[in-house]
Amino acid sequence: MSAPGVYLLLIRLRRGLPVTLGRRTVALAPGWYVYCGSALGGLAGRLARHLRTSQVRHWHVDALLAAGQVADVQVCLTTDPAAECRLAATVAAWTGAEPVPGFGCTDCRCATHLFRFAGRPGGALLAPAVLAQIDNIMSALRQYAPSPEWARRDAFQTLVACILSLRTQDPVTDAAAARLFAEFATPAALAAAAPATVARLIYPVGMYHTKARNLVALSRQLLERFGGRTPAEIDDLLTLPNVGRKTANLVRSFAYGLDAICVDTHVHRIGNRWGLVRTATPDDTERELRNVLPQRYWIELNHLLVRHGQLVCRPARPKCAGCFLRPWCQYAALCAAQAVIAAIPGAPAHPAAPPGRSVP
Ligand code: SF4
Repeated sequence: MSAPGVYLLLIRLRRGLPVTLGRRTVALAPGWYVYCGSALGGLAGRLARHLRTSQVRHWHVDALLAAGQVADVQVCLTTDPAAECRLAATVAAWTGAEPVPGFGCTDCRCATHLFRFAGRPGGALLAPAVLAQIDNIMSALRQYAPSPEWARRDAFQTLVACILSLRTQDPVTDAAAARLFAEFATPAALAAAAPATVARLIYPVGMYHTKARNLVALSRQLLERFGGRTPAEIDDLLTLPNVGRKTANLVRSFAYGLDAICVDTHVHRIGNRWGLVRTATPDDTERELRNVLPQRYWIELNHLLVRHGQLVCRPARPKCAGCFLRPWCQYAALCAAQAVIAAIPGAPAHPAAPPGRSVP
């Protein structure tokens, strides 16, 4: 990988360490350290050098690396020479950051490029760098994705259609929903239906027998507990059969226009590939996105990413070579970084870049 960019090293120091900075010696206390660096000549060589245990001590960080353990490496592609200092300023603003004055900043005017934390900082540490491009990413996606069909449905039909869509292709879902709503369009009508009739109408959606039973039960609960209205509160929605966070957030955002992020498998996967989040599950992705993504993008994110995830940013072989988001996406960088990091025993794997994955 010769791609240029900035990087963060997360280093755990278990014992205190004296470090010489110019003419003075400072004592680094045990804890977690975030070091900000840049490699405009290529990230791979720089990361490989940092991660070698038998390196010549040249930079301030070399002493820290020799005494501590690298717990994580995160990268972001850029050719901007000012990006490293901006990154240091961003980390300095994180809660709990304790600057180590004069560390790693001999060729710039920053106070430091090293920060200590008492506890381990988590998540996508470079999300702020990705967020600088989020307007470009969302405008490009908007030109590509058609307007959503089911945003025009009422809350009940949005809820039912989303349940039908679980483990089912979109065309099958759309046809099944149309047949079902032609006969049972309201909670009252569906509550009175026989599950076998519902199963016949929604066949061949995945698990159609179970879904048919659950849809009738759900409609009865809407009548008994909510007066026939589909609730908008997430805690209420989550008590209904077959309703998880994805479905609940879809109803809240698409049907009620409330600020909610519907995280399905596409949003989870692509958010990690972009470098916006670093998470193992869709629920974690929703939580991190709520922290980092500007609220104005919450409602439309799911719609914009589903089609992209189905056609371009596919699970197994994303079509990065022809992707219009490539200029802003960190996937190639994190795959390349992962290839370097994977050689380090016990080094962490990025959830979006399985070990051994080559640069797309
Ligand atoms: S460049 Fe590749 S990983 Fe990034 S969004 Fe496009 S297809 Fe997905």
